[in-house]
Amino acid sequence: MSVEAHTETLGFQTEITQLLDLMIHSLYSNKEIFLRELISNGSDAADKLRFEALSDDALYEGDTDLKIWINFDKDARTVTVRDNGIGMSREEVIENIGTIAKSGTQEFFKSLTGDNVKDTQLIGQFGVGFYSCFIVADKVTLSTRRAGLEPSHGVKWESKGDGEYTVETTELQQHGTEVILHLRPDEDEFLSDYQLRSIIKKYSDHITLPIVMPKVLTEEDKDKEEKAPEDEVVNTATALWVRGKGEITDEEYTEFYKHVAHDFEAPLAHLHNKVEGTNEYTTLLFIPARAPFDLWDRTNHRGIKLYVRRVFIMDDNEKLLPPYLRFIRGVVDSNDLPLNISREILQHNRKIETIRSGTVKKILGTLENMAKNEPDKYATFWKEFGRVIKEGVIDDASNKDRIAKLLRFSSSYDDNATPAVSLEDYVGRMKEGQKKIYFVTADSFSAAKNSPHLEIFRKKGIEVILLSDQIDEWLGTHLNEFEGKPLQSVTKGDLDLGDLEDEDEKKEAENASDTLKSVLEGIKTTLGDKVKDVRITHRLTTSPACLVADEQAMDASLERLLKSAGQMVPGTLPIMEINPQHPIVNALKEEADETRFNDWVFMLFDQALLSEGGQLEDPAAFVNRMNEMFVSMGNLSSSRIITFD
Ligand code: ADP
Ligand code: MG
Repeated sequence: MSVEAHTETLGFQTEITQLLDLMIHSLYSNKEIFLRELISNGSDAADKLRFEALSDDALYEGDTDLKIWINFDKDARTVTVRDNGIGMSREEVIENIGTIAKSGTQEFFKSLTGDNVKDTQLIGQFGVGFYSCFIVADKVTLSTRRAGLEPSHGVKWESKGDGEYTVETTELQQHGTEVILHLRPDEDEFLSDYQLRSIIKKYSDHITLPIVMPKVLTEEDKDKEEKAPEDEVVNTATALWVRGKGEITDEEYTEFYKHVAHDFEAPLAHLHNKVEGTNEYTTLLFIPARAPFDLWDRTNHRGIKLYVRRVFIMDDNEKLLPPYLRFIRGVVDSNDLPLNISREILQHNRKIETIRSGTVKKILGTLENMAKNEPDKYATFWKEFGRVIKEGVIDDASNKDRIAKLLRFSSSYDDNATPAVSLEDYVGRMKEGQKKIYFVTADSFSAAKNSPHLEIFRKKGIEVILLSDQIDEWLGTHLNEFEGKPLQSVTKGDLDLGDLEDEDEKKEAENASDTLKSVLEGIKTTLGDKVKDVRITHRLTTSPACLVADEQAMDASLERLLKSAGQMVPGTLPIMEINPQHPIVNALKEEADETRFNDWVFMLFDQALLSEGGQLEDPAAFVNRMNEMFVSMGNLSSSRIITFD
């Protein structure tokens, strides 16, 4: 006997105690899901055994008929769920049931809101399956033995869900896992054959494994005392994706989705495809209605389960979908991959690559249809996953054009921050003579919307796309054109509106350049190496000045992003542009006092920087200067009182 035969009492990880508490209270209205969770674990355990047995047949211990058994005992007030799957060793029990080994635990706790409805959904996504037992049970006993280990290596785990559990080594003839729930005093409803069967049908009908319960004996059967109750399969027990589309109800798709995605909510859409020919495979994929809390983890690729001829192979399969579709959930079942396929083979497999590119196209097609036919649904989709889809423009060159059409943006035509404008919408309403798609990037929607760079566009009624997601900086550098129309940042380069330009305005600006020549020189001297150049612009109507990037340079906001990410950015100096119509600029022309001239210039520069969402090098100096100027303004004539907008 092993030295570990003793009974050990161990404490749950603190998070689990917290989680149990939260779960018991917030999932109470949905308590029957404990059965779904236990069945799901039994089904996973059978999948694992089948997979491991591919290379070691002995693991079946002569019993290849994998099943889940469910029973109840009215007198003992228990419900039992048993499987003959892979089982667990003592170490595995301690590791899997007692700690949350999954990465992202911290994020999960951070994302809890205290709002029951929302937290309930989060719990669903987090997949805390096993612990849901404690919603209905005040004591849970789990007995398990890992397939292939000696009977003496059985393990008994027990807990009242109060922060502690015990483990002891025990003798178990049968491999697999048995969970006995000792029901709480008012949970008698689960001690019913009818009730348990209904729950199984409702939540677990699609499980491929037979779920069996003892046949209910008729009065006649009962008379024949010797007759032991037979097992009866309760669920349909065929893989859902193998069945024809026409035979599957929406409810069945939804329940299957909840099972594969660990989600409480119905999905937004599903795609079910059988591909025949040289490479035969079936995909059943879902678009969730809500982003998971770990959506930003690009390394998380557990959304899709790979099966080979109905045998589960793995669900860590970054090769099946590109990272920008990491929110997709579901199943891919191949008919011609080898059963013993390893992760390494998967890396360079032709068949996998065809499956991948075919699947990506199907998903894009589904999204295109949704955008066209169900705009409200698509808006929900975009709100939840839009920022991830944008990565596709950068990651997936072969589908760039299709992805570009799926993008939705905020626009200067629209006061609503919700991105609803597509590039096709934009191109469709471009002004006559307009050759470019204009966009502005800023750190927030309101900074973009109120950017001084938009003034001339507003005046001329030209639409500008407002970008304010972090990823937009990259988007701006990767999406150079759409349907032959170049994308142009309005904060970059000399403003050239082409045919939209008003000749008079241009001339006016040129004349102003002449009259303001000395002022421009003066500003340049004052700002020294803070700017590359100072020039007159006609892009401003209400603001006195703005900063623009050189045509070749990075956008100012991209530069900030890189710097904040700790990257070295080659120093590119901005160009300061001056509005010749503005009273401050005109006042500068008259200003004879050098100190005051310099103060005004720094003020203009700092303002321009601030209105871009930039950070001042010396904020205190800005504030001091401004206050001094306010004070001295008392001496100014009323004609020189200036408003800062
Ligand atoms: P999840 O199923 O999402 O991993 P659970 O809380 O349901 O989360 O289960 C935690 C872990 O406990 C499982 O990943 C598995 O390793 C182990 N486990 C639970 N039930 C069983 C079972 N019936 N057979 C084998 N292992 C199990
Ligand atoms: Mg589970």
